Amino acid sequence: MKRNLLLTPGPTQIPSELCAVLGKPIIHHRTPQFQENLKEVVEGLKYVCQTKNDIYLLTSSGTGAMEAAVCNLLSAGDQAITVEGGKFGERWTEICEAYGVKAHVIKVQWGHDVKPQEIKKFLDTHKNIKAVFITLAETSTGVTTDVKAVAEIVKDTSAVLVVDAVSGLAVTDLQTDNWGVDVVCSASHKGLMLPPGIAFVAASPKAIKLIEQSKSPRYYFDLRESKKAMEKTDTPYTPAIGIVIALVDSLRYVRKMGLENLFAHYARLAKGTQAAAEGLGLSVFPQESCRSNVLTAINLPANIDGEKLVKTMRDTYGISVAGGQDQLKGKIIRIAHMGVIDEYDILTGISCLEKVLHKMGHKFALGAGVAAAQRIFNQ
Ligand code: PMP
Repeated sequence: MKRNLLLTPGPTQIPSELCAVLGKPIIHHRTPQFQENLKEVVEGLKYVCQTKNDIYLLTSSGTGAMEAAVCNLLSAGDQAITVEGGKFGERWTEICEAYGVKAHVIKVQWGHDVKPQEIKKFLDTHKNIKAVFITLAETSTGVTTDVKAVAEIVKDTSAVLVVDAVSGLAVTDLQTDNWGVDVVCSASHKGLMLPPGIAFVAASPKAIKLIEQSKSPRYYFDLRESKKAMEKTDTPYTPAIGIVIALVDSLRYVRKMGLENLFAHYARLAKGTQAAAEGLGLSVFPQESCRSNVLTAINLPANIDGEKLVKTMRDTYGISVAGGQDQLKGKIIRIAHMGVIDEYDILTGISCLEKVLHKMGHKFALGAGVAAAQRIFNQ
């Protein structure tokens, strides 16, 4: 058996304490015992989302929460803004199109962030926009969006602001209520360190009005049913019971650590990983001004086959990192800073990267990446 260290941007490493909880026998969900767990999970998710808004649990991966947001907020023929600076921004457009929603796409070069003024310009000239869809951490590129600045613009309009925080939640700051974000979508298998299976939507009163008016076809993801059930500390259908129960412990861990401390921890890991890349003579893919702390995307030299590099790290040495997607396929690797990952995991990942890069013919002083990261971690 080989250990498999997950430095991938979801799913992330599951701490052994949570594995133990996940291995417990299942209980029935229409019971006071389950309700106790559900109540604590909803409170914990409110803490992590920094909101007092309603939270609706869904049994799905993160994309289910995104689809639920679109079909519950909007109807065919409605207009929305999407921002495409990577794969997950594109997903917003695709889901809108599936429901007949007209998505006005703001295209952003991969590796750059959207300029909030562009969104403002569009909203100023298109008064019928009902929703603006953005991505907190664009996992395909390692770019972060200035959600606060976008919220500042959207909150004075009739549109709702919807944030895909699938990878960013509990890793980087998202002040839902303070900033005025209407809808947050996220899931169990990234910052919350559990298997995929539970996703959720946080919805403001402004969003709930739209949920009540939408004419889109919806059944399993009908948030009106979730709302009714949540009022009785229940779920409309059988939830991923084991994951809800494990979320109690995962969220207790997040609370114990404190969001501020976690954000600072991941920022340090990101800084160390970026320094390691530079120490190896490589560059970081996103522009410096919009680099996310959630993951680091590193450009590979032209003579290195990125897919082979990722495969060798995983299959030979048991270290999983992610490769590039679409236009970045084979050209970058992505190392996550999420969940229970600490500086020694990052150092292990970097030293493995060094080993494989060295074998593949990239020229650098062995140890240069690890040393650069160590200098940051020992500041
Ligand atoms: N949005 C972002 C930012 C993501 O990172 C992901 C998963 N990589 C998703 C959406 C989709 O989530 P899932 O694969 O859980 O459906």
